[in-house]
Amino acid sequence: MNSEMAKDSLKTPKTSSRSAGNLSISIWAAQCGKCYKWRKISTQEEYEEIRSKFNEEPFHCENKPNVSCDDPTEIEYDSLRTWVIDKPNEPKTPIGFKRELCLRGDYSEMDVYYITPSGKKLRSTEEVRTFLQKNLEFSDLSTEDFSFTTPHIMDDTIPSPSTK
Ligand SMILES: [Zn+2]
Repeated sequence: MNSEMAKDSLKTPKTSSRSAGNLSISIWAAQCGKCYKWRKISTQEEYEEIRSKFNEEPFHCENKPNVSCDDPTEIEYDSLRTWVIDKPNEPKTPIGFKRELCLRGDYSEMDVYYITPSGKKLRSTEEVRTFLQKNLEFSDLSTEDFSFTTPHIMDDTIPSPSTK
């Protein structure tokens, strides 16, 4: 399913850890637009950089140092781990802020929030607006720099109740 979507989008898989409570992203990956192999992206920052201009500059294996389309895939898209798919061209997290994504323990939904440089949690565009109004040192930022769009959880990679 969704092979069309997988081809054109970045995915942010997470591990198959089955611990109770919310799960966070542990592996970032991007799919090559030419050979469709998955490449691991080492940091969230790097991943966001790729994602922020994904439509203009599709990801290719050569974007990674010493990697080409001839190399074997680095990670398989399968149900060993739960995959979530991101929207391309989301804004990069502003410097000093941290964007956190959590998958609810029941796999029903993802939650997204930002942590400000001073450690405050922002959970909505409204909270970002209030924060920016009160903290003039961030006057170069706007609500456009923050996205509360959550990735799509791939149903076919959600563990079935018997394997949970
Ligand atoms: Zn490739």
